[in-house]
Amino acid sequence: RAKADGRGTYRFFETGMDARAQARRLLEMDLRAALQRDEFEAYYQPIRDVASGRVVAFEALLRWNHPQRGLIAPIDFIPLAEETGLILQLGEFVLRSACTDAATWPDDVDLAVNLSPVQFKNPNLIASVTAALAVSGLDARRLELEITESVLLQNSEATLTTLHELRAMGVRISLDDFGTGYSSLSYLRSFPFDKIKIDRSFVSELATREDSMAIIRAVTGLGRSLGIVTTAEGVENDVQLELLRREGCTQAQGYLFSKPRPASDVAMMLNRPRLLASA
Ligand code: C2E
Ligand code: MG
Ligand code: MG
Ligand code: MG
Repeated sequence: RAKADGRGTYRFFETGMDARAQARRLLEMDLRAALQRDEFEAYYQPIRDVASGRVVAFEALLRWNHPQRGLIAPIDFIPLAEETGLILQLGEFVLRSACTDAATWPDDVDLAVNLSPVQFKNPNLIASVTAALAVSGLDARRLELEITESVLLQNSEATLTTLHELRAMGVRISLDDFGTGYSSLSYLRSFPFDKIKIDRSFVSELATREDSMAIIRAVTGLGRSLGIVTTAEGVENDVQLELLRREGCTQAQGYLFSKPRPASDVAMMLNRPRLLASA
């Protein structure tokens, strides 16, 4: 009896795996074809200086214009792209197109690009960044690369070398989604960061949870003491912005200012003091 149950369970499990593996294979084929067909596009979200309100940078956020499924967000394809290694080609595409776009912006507006841990580990990273800057003509000092804490868990000497090489080129490094991973304060001491991006989860509960407020206060204070810029992610309303301003958070990014939009909307995002959250 137990054996029969076991077999039944096993068979069920196997069928489930098959369906999932099948879906994965389809998505992988779709991803490869999409790269050939040029279906990927960098969207941009403005980042504002909290004190002056000026747009100081845009973060490039990848979108997939799928012919049948419409616009697909990164959460639905980046994990598989990372597993299959396709993220290297995708990352190369984002870097090139974003640097090319940013080279046409006013030169006091910077560009932030997300780097996958897979890209970061790739020995070709420095060459790839160098080429993107050379081809686009973008000044290295206008480029910020965003990495997450998971990068720091890996081989720390190689990581440190790569970070130093990038900074020697003039590129700045941001620690993305701070507070969500294996946040360790020793990272801030061991690795050369220019910016800490405080994860959206802390910002969203800023006005309603004392502990979120305390964490924001601690991180902005830490940034100030260490000479590191702090950026709050996911700012959706004026109450949050005001609290961040009071805590001395350097920069803010979120739907309050604008959702990520295509490159053709950058001029409008620069000109308008603020877009409605619902826009
Ligand atoms: P991230 O780098 O932390 O980017 C911020 C995410 O928060 C973006 O989601 C953005 O649209 C969203 N966001 C910004 N403001 C608000 C807000 O006020 N409210 C809410 N609810 N959300 C807000 P998106 O574009 O879906 O990207 C998700 C993640 O995918 C990114 O998180 C990043 O980790 C990854 N990603 C995006 N583009 C790339 C890329 O080109 N390369 C790599 N490796 N990863 C990317
Ligand atoms: Mg980011
Ligand atoms: Mg982030
Ligand atoms: Mg995030």
